[in-house]
Amino acid sequence: MNLLDNLNPEQLAAVTLPSQSALILAGAGSGKTRVLTTRIAWLIQTSQVSPAGIMAVTFTNKAAKEMLSRLSAMLPINTRGMWIGTFHGLCNRLLRTHHRDAALPQSFQILDSQDQLSMIKRMLKALNVDDEKYPAKDLMYFINNAKDNGRRAADCEAYDHVQKRMVELYDAYDQQCQREGVVDFAELLLRAYELLQRNHPLRQHYQMRFRHILVDEFQDTNDLQYNLLKLLAGHHEPAGGAIFAVGDDDQSIYAFRGANVGNMQAFEREFEVKNLIKLEQNYRSHGHILDTANFLIANNKQRLGKNLRTDAGQGEPVRIYEASSDLEEAQWIIDEAKSLMGEGVPRSEIAILYRSNAQSRVIEHALFAAGIPYTVYGGLRYFQRAEVKHAIAYLQLMDNPHNDSAFLRVVNFPTRGIGARSIEQLQMAADSYGVSLYAAVPHMTGKAGTVLSNFVKLIESARFETQQLPLPEMVKVVLERSTLLDHYGKEKEGAERIENLEQMVSAATHFVQEEGFGVTAPAHLGPQAAASSGAAIVNLDGIELLDADAPLAAVMSPLSAFLSHASLEAGDAQAQAGQDAMQLMTVHSAKGLEFDAVFITGLEEGLFPHESSSRELDGVDEERRLMYVAITRARKRLYMSFTQQRMLHGQTRFNMKSRFFDELPEESLKWLSPRVQTKWFGGRNSTTAWDDANFRENGSDNQIARQITQKSSSDKGIGWRIGEQVAHARFGEGVIVNIEGGAGSPRALINFGGAGMKMLDLSVAKLEKV
Ligand code: ATP
Ligand code: MG
Repeated sequence: MNLLDNLNPEQLAAVTLPSQSALILAGAGSGKTRVLTTRIAWLIQTSQVSPAGIMAVTFTNKAAKEMLSRLSAMLPINTRGMWIGTFHGLCNRLLRTHHRDAALPQSFQILDSQDQLSMIKRMLKALNVDDEKYPAKDLMYFINNAKDNGRRAADCEAYDHVQKRMVELYDAYDQQCQREGVVDFAELLLRAYELLQRNHPLRQHYQMRFRHILVDEFQDTNDLQYNLLKLLAGHHEPAGGAIFAVGDDDQSIYAFRGANVGNMQAFEREFEVKNLIKLEQNYRSHGHILDTANFLIANNKQRLGKNLRTDAGQGEPVRIYEASSDLEEAQWIIDEAKSLMGEGVPRSEIAILYRSNAQSRVIEHALFAAGIPYTVYGGLRYFQRAEVKHAIAYLQLMDNPHNDSAFLRVVNFPTRGIGARSIEQLQMAADSYGVSLYAAVPHMTGKAGTVLSNFVKLIESARFETQQLPLPEMVKVVLERSTLLDHYGKEKEGAERIENLEQMVSAATHFVQEEGFGVTAPAHLGPQAAASSGAAIVNLDGIELLDADAPLAAVMSPLSAFLSHASLEAGDAQAQAGQDAMQLMTVHSAKGLEFDAVFITGLEEGLFPHESSSRELDGVDEERRLMYVAITRARKRLYMSFTQQRMLHGQTRFNMKSRFFDELPEESLKWLSPRVQTKWFGGRNSTTAWDDANFRENGSDNQIARQITQKSSSDKGIGWRIGEQVAHARFGEGVIVNIEGGAGSPRALINFGGAGMKMLDLSVAKLEKV
């Protein structure tokens, strides 16, 4: 079949554009990702470029895998050596290949955000920094933000002594990372950027190599990523290649991480894009769903402007449910999901989306009780579970003993009699000699010295013993030698942890097969082994460069590769392969995906839009884009729900329903639950100021959006309490959301559902208990 058969005329034009930079700006489900993948195949098939001349940037590792498998289905090529991946994955590859030029050990390790935070905490403690004044989280944010903006400590400006101290700590942190041979996520990108910027021949090599750079989800690139792309594409340099970017300004949802939609306009200008193509035909969603999305997003200011249409017919209306509590909401989801499954919708085609991870617990519990298999994306992923991180730490030490985080994690786990005092002494020795904890062990004396050097011996001997073993075998040995299996074997609830640990052997087997290491290749062996197996290393201006098609195996050992996989995957959505399970995830991680049926839950003020958004400029618009992403994931069925009451972070909240409901086309909606009486006032969302002495309209949206937390019994006493159901002659039934003003002039904020949120003076208002 011809590659181009299944494209509409605009898509066809985009796929077959000449080799110049181009921007495809198009709404959700219009085939952007499909166009990008097909263009890669077309460029290769028509011999305009070899597979090695392609770099493609995807948003998740999963998307990269999918793209690779589509490509191998379209073309008879080996996709293994192709540079297709996330920014982080691609930078990791670049840095491993040129680790010397990047001043990194070849087996440098990647800190996930959890590791990064604990490392910062440790550093603050070692430096005796007041953690009230300089909380570890703030410092982490400061560092990551600076790196995302391409700034080293030396480039940071400081206007007061607090900022000055932050900058010093940033510098100290970077030095500590360098000593340990570890890099955080933001560092992967910054290091790669600096490497290319500094090293002219290397940059030129990659510019000449990557004739075509293709970027999906371009609206969510941050400045550093954009600058990296500019370097790689040789912007204004003679050797430069072309960038093919696809994106949707309405789906830009990572501003909080520094993403900058403005990069689309900058790109158009700086690359003198002549080919701007819009795709307006949506192939994903039925009409009611698409109308809902179009209506909602029309409320945003500053859009580049585009519309979506579909030929699919209107389909089912969007169903909306008002639950009384989060428990009831979960139950409703399960009932609806069951009836969908009864109609033959596979479980894996049903997605439940929420704004914040914390919302998943109640839903998970209900699914579990109902015996419905489900997968949670982005929750505590496999590689983040404690027992798995312990095993990984042993492997990390065998690969790079100077990783202090790994050292501290397992030096006394399982316990081997090393106390906090000994660790403190060791830390002092390490500081005074300026070496890693591992390297400081020989400086320790006495009993602590003996126990610690036994630990070092354990690592060294495990390393020696496994030298010739393939990765899965190596993992097996490490699980035994570390005594982790024994340890959990003795624990009462250890069975699941043992299962998870054993799972790691399968994960390693799977990994080496997928990445082409060959199950038998010794885990420690690095590039040399790969080079002698065919991948040539060429030299250009004295720089080691690998044959363009060299697989991952040519730049890192199976062990290093597996460890980076474990860290990088931590940031990714991850489905359990082959299992037909319902899909639970945050809206953020649903980007780019599609499902037959989608539930958007917790549509309440403060939750979605999130309370933090009212503090940010453009915050609510960003939440609206997020809602647009959520809606446009659905093909055939879309459900939305909100509840009057929910437990979150241990507190009961009474929320108003989300303002987004007011922005949807009524004719595409079907309200499932009877809503609170509205007949006296017309319009369920009326927030007009009422001329009534009994209450004061709670005017500003933000005030209404305020999260109200149930207070203690001190709020009772005036005959009313928070959470109580009441009735008012004019507004109908409602629930007391907050009481304030004390006994002197008690006022109550009451959610009258249809009639909106009202503040009533309790001394005059005629309220009845229901
Ligand atoms: P998003 O903005 O959500 O990332 P997108 O623009 O990348 O969406 P795709 O995921 O590429 O859209 O396509 C959406 C769906 O439409 C996919 O299932 C895809 O296979 C299908 N599709 C795209 N183009 C066509 C076409 N010309 N004919 C039939 N189906 C198509
Ligand atoms: Mg896409």
